[in-house]
Amino acid sequence: MKLRHAIERPTRRAALRAARLLRAGRLVAFPTETVYGLGADATSDRAVAGIYAAKRRPRHNPLIIHVASLAEARRLARFDARAEALARAFWPGPLTLVLARRAGARLSRLASAGLRTVAIRIPDDRVALDLLRRTGRPLAAPSANRSGGVSPTRAAHVRLSLGGRVSLILDGGPCRVGVESTVLDVSSPRARLLRPGGVPLETLEATIGAIEVDSATTEEARPASPGRLLSHYAPQRPVRPGASEPRAGEAYLAFGRTNQPATLNLSPTGNLAEAAANLFAMLQALDRPEFSAIAVAPIPQRGLGRAINDRLKRAAAPRR
Ligand code: AMP
Ligand code: MG
Repeated sequence: MKLRHAIERPTRRAALRAARLLRAGRLVAFPTETVYGLGADATSDRAVAGIYAAKRRPRHNPLIIHVASLAEARRLARFDARAEALARAFWPGPLTLVLARRAGARLSRLASAGLRTVAIRIPDDRVALDLLRRTGRPLAAPSANRSGGVSPTRAAHVRLSLGGRVSLILDGGPCRVGVESTVLDVSSPRARLLRPGGVPLETLEATIGAIEVDSATTEEARPASPGRLLSHYAPQRPVRPGASEPRAGEAYLAFGRTNQPATLNLSPTGNLAEAAANLFAMLQALDRPEFSAIAVAPIPQRGLGRAINDRLKRAAAPRR
C-alpha cells in the first residue's frame, strides 16, 4: 500500500504529481528557503480550509500567498511605488508584503481570513518556484507543522508533525534560511514590521527608510502581558532564552565561543545566519525526555538575531 504521507525527492515526476494534487485541492508540503510550507491552492476555499484543519490553525490567522512572479502578485494586490521597490529588491526572498487586496483577485477569502489586505511573497527556492509554475496557481503555504509547534526545516520534521494529513512531502533537503519570512505591512503610508524574519529590519530600512516596529517584537517591550505573547514555535520541553549558563538537568543551546557545557551550538563562530538556519532543527533535537528544559544562550538583537529572539520568546511564552 502506498503511504499517504510519502516523502519524495523533487524529481520532475514528483513535481508533476505534486502540481496535480494541488490543482485537485489536496495538500502538498514543499521546501522553501525559510521553512517547509504546507501548500494548498489559494484560489480554492475548500483547499485552504484543509490547511487550517491539518494544522489546527485558528481561522482568524491569515496565510501567506506564494506566487512565482511579480506579475502574478500584481494581479492579486495593489503595489504602490514603495511596494514595487521592495519587491524588486527582495523577491524572490524571505520578505512577505502585506498589501491591499485587489477587488477582483482570484483568491480564497479564507486564505486572507476575510481581510481587505493580503500577505504575498515569491519564495527563493528552486523546488518551490518550479512547483508554483507547474501548478499555475497561487499557493497558500504556512509552515508545515501543527499550529504552535516548532517549524519544520527538514522533510522529516513535516512527517513527524503532520504525518498522514498531507498527500505528498517534497524533500528538498534542509532549508537555507531556517526562520520564517519577515512580514512587512505596506498597506498604509507607514510601513510596519509585523514579524521579524529572514530579511533583517536594518536591510529593509536601508531601502525604504524608517519602519515602525510593533512593541511586542522589540527587546525593550514592557514586561509581557500574557496573551500578547502568543505561545508559538514551542517544543514540548520548556524553553529558557537568554541563559548565560545551563541549570542542572537542562540542555544548553549555545551561541558563539563558550566555556559552558554546550549540548549543541547554534553557531560556534557566532554567525547569526548559521544560527537561524540551525535554530528549529536544534530545538527539535534537544526536545528529549532526558532534559528538563532547553536553555538558550543570549543572541544579539541585530540582523537575523531579531528573528531568532522573536521565535525564542514565543517558544518560551506561557502555553495555550
Ligand atoms: P505563517 O503563514 O504561519 O508563516 O504566518 C503568516 C503570518 O503573516 C502571520 O503572522 C499572519 O498573521 C501574517 N499575515 C498574513 N496575512 C496577513 C494580513 N493580511 N495582514 C496582516 N498579517 C498577515
Ligand atoms: Mg508557522
